[in-house]
Amino acid sequence: MSLQIIPFQSSLNTCYILKDKGAVLIDGAWAGAAKSFSKLLTDSQIKPEEIQLIIITHGDFDHLGGAKELSELTGAKIAIHEKDRENLEKGKFHWPEGVTTWGKVSRAMFKPLMKIKGAFPAVKADIVLDDKGLSLKEYGIPGNIVYTPGHTYGSVSVLLETGDAFIGCLAQNKAPFVFKPSLPIYAKDYDLLKKSWKKVIDQGAKTIYPGHGKSFPVEKILKYLN
Ligand SMILES: [Zn+2]
Ligand SMILES: [Zn+2]
Repeated sequence: MSLQIIPFQSSLNTCYILKDKGAVLIDGAWAGAAKSFSKLLTDSQIKPEEIQLIIITHGDFDHLGGAKELSELTGAKIAIHEKDRENLEKGKFHWPEGVTTWGKVSRAMFKPLMKIKGAFPAVKADIVLDDKGLSLKEYGIPGNIVYTPGHTYGSVSVLLETGDAFIGCLAQNKAPFVFKPSLPIYAKDYDLLKKSWKKVIDQGAKTIYPGHGKSFPVEKILKYLN
């Protein structure tokens, strides 16, 4: 069977089901996502229990809010990097600071509302990732989880042998954040983020699947990295 990539839209976020010999989910969506996720599984002819792992790209509320209910629905383990783990396990609202003018303005504007809309239940991590990442071979997926900090200190990406790269918020491609493939407008450490991009590119990424918006060829991001 060849690899399937199935996007799952949850508010402004795009999560991805990867299905090959096994199946995993990238990112935990917003709280309240279980019903629409369940429908997507039915439509895609995937049984809930086929999803064995939920990989949280980073510890922001919009990427892990639904992790508890999606893991209960599927029985999947939850993996997150040790540096972002606390947000998941304590139900802690996190959103990195703005690095562009719009990033700063939009965060100040929307944070009070997001703190309410983005509230989520805490859940324990089953797999705590370190900087070495993790092979996805035992989950039947040809690729690796790679440590790619910068947007948050515990950000990770999933890089497949096919060159498909699921990078969370190492880039954004969705209004109202940005209007074309760009580096994120929120980040903890931009220099670190650019270093992580070098890592992603060196490991053969060709098509980039962001946590917000549609996929794009890696070439679109190169101009931001010099
Ligand atoms: Zn984020
Ligand atoms: Zn996000």
